Amino acid sequence: MNRAARIDEAARRLAACSGTPRLDARILWAHARGAVATGDDDEPAGRFARLIARRCAGEPVSRILGRREFWSLDFALTPDVLDPRPDSETVVEAALAHLGSRDREAAVLDLGTGSGCLLLAVLSELPGAWGVGIDKSVGACRAARENAGRLGFGARAHFVVGDWGAALGARFDAVLCNPPYIAERDIAALAPEVARHDPWAALSGGEDGLDGYRAVLAGVARLLAPGGFAVLELGQGQGQAVSALAGAGGLCTLASNADLSGIERCVVLQTKHGIEC
Ligand code: GLN
Repeated sequence: MNRAARIDEAARRLAACSGTPRLDARILWAHARGAVATGDDDEPAGRFARLIARRCAGEPVSRILGRREFWSLDFALTPDVLDPRPDSETVVEAALAHLGSRDREAAVLDLGTGSGCLLLAVLSELPGAWGVGIDKSVGACRAARENAGRLGFGARAHFVVGDWGAALGARFDAVLCNPPYIAERDIAALAPEVARHDPWAALSGGEDGLDGYRAVLAGVARLLAPGGFAVLELGQGQGQAVSALAGAGGLCTLASNADLSGIERCVVLQTKHGIEC
């Protein structure tokens, strides 16, 4: 069978399990061929068939490849980290808009950094900025550190295992956070690509999905430098509840931004310092 026929056949099979069957088939074929070229002596066709079977069993293409593009940067994915979503680019955009000048020597903190995608995307736009990424998962910190090194930000990005910001004494110009925000009982009903392949700890926000926000918002005000702000990603419909928790933590909601689907996806928060909010 030639290449086109193999891709056609795989795309027909993938139509039952993917919204983008032809694209998936093309990418997985290239991956099967590439792996063979780099020394795997397995037949590309046999390898391709196994990759298609994995995709049909609900594994996302990004997990099969071990890579995900975010903010036009190439991130390595490991089982320890959340697969970066395009929605999270809303957080990066908001942070850059509020940081202002490209020349700023800003200090940036990323709480629950996972792959490091939020922090490294911001550093990629601000040559004078540096940052710290915290994650409670040792594996995630390792993955983030490797991503930083490979993408050329190793000298400006530092990764530490920790319980949100609890161990930190420093203050930051921007705090970024995409906490786990899915209500625990809803996780099993998510697509298998998410429910079975993203780390539980990166998804589960406890009974009502808000536990991560409670933990972060209780302590984030003391991590903000004068004029500093926090940008938190939101799960769908969580804006009001998160702003209420922010208020209780001594923060004002400065702005909120929608993602490309028009869903309110992040809030920008600042300490009150006497401002009415
Ligand atoms: N964005 C992920 C999803 O909607 C959830 C990630 C998170 O909980 N922060 O599936």
